[in-house]
Amino acid sequence: MAMQYPEHIWHNGVIKPWAEATVHVMAHGLHYGSSVFEGIRSYATPKGQAIFRLTDHLKRLYASAKIYDMAMPYDIDVLAKGCRDVITANKLEKAYLRPIAYRGLGGFGLSADTPTDLAIAAWHMGPYLGPDVLEAGIDACVSSWQRFAPNTIPAGAKAGGNYLSGQLVAREARRLGFGEGIALASTGLLSEGAGENLFLVFDGALHTTPISAALLNGITRNSIITLAKANGIEVVERDIPREYLYLCDELFMCGTAAEITPIRSVDGRQVGAGKPGPLTRRIQDLFFGLFDGRTPDKYGWLENV
Ligand code: PMP
Repeated sequence: MAMQYPEHIWHNGVIKPWAEATVHVMAHGLHYGSSVFEGIRSYATPKGQAIFRLTDHLKRLYASAKIYDMAMPYDIDVLAKGCRDVITANKLEKAYLRPIAYRGLGGFGLSADTPTDLAIAAWHMGPYLGPDVLEAGIDACVSSWQRFAPNTIPAGAKAGGNYLSGQLVAREARRLGFGEGIALASTGLLSEGAGENLFLVFDGALHTTPISAALLNGITRNSIITLAKANGIEVVERDIPREYLYLCDELFMCGTAAEITPIRSVDGRQVGAGKPGPLTRRIQDLFFGLFDGRTPDKYGWLENV
């Protein structure tokens, strides 16, 4: 994905020029994958630019740090302000925000209490999986790579090291000509996409894999569950075997980057009518309606810049 670099980055409490926000080659995070991060989007809304569920994303960042026993040098409010400041400094009308906390320099070795450094980047990012995927959908495949077993690497943390698994899944899918890869858990049951949660539609109800299926407890997933239930749509969280990807009426992936991306085929089998179905469209409408005012923000999810 080509990226236009923004001019400024928030780094350890100050806004710096992009070129000065560097990491030392001996940083712990680089050697051992010891970073935790978030992906957050802001949207242009009729009431001004709003960061979607900023507080919930930052809470998850602190939860990820807690899992890895990483000391966080700032309060959540400082990071929330940093997110706003980096959007403003880069004059972005809408943004993808990437706060990251990483073990930097100082002590070495796996159990060293290396101090945590923090950075926040913000840039413009269109649809993650391709320019017209939100309308057209993607063709997906089940990966030959499984997600990590629950007693190995905790899937509930959004840690840099987890994305070694995600890279294997996503790169294999692209190499084979698919838009995205879907991984099974070590149980052999469905887990999630390389960087997205999954929803299957059966008889007008949404079915999604449970957090025990080695997945990240996505904030978009939670938003969809909340919006669906509030609009009388049944939601079932349950273990799902792989073959139901082929048999469901509709299928979509969701995440901050992927937003709500319909899936029209899996492993060469057409899903439903082979195009985004009515419930997928309804969920897209409810979700994107939050940002143009069609869906009331009953939950305080839109946090002003
Ligand atoms: N699963 C994985 C592995 C992810 O990287 C992401 C993106 N953060 C998601 C699911 C979706 O999470 P969210 O909706 O909170 O962005």
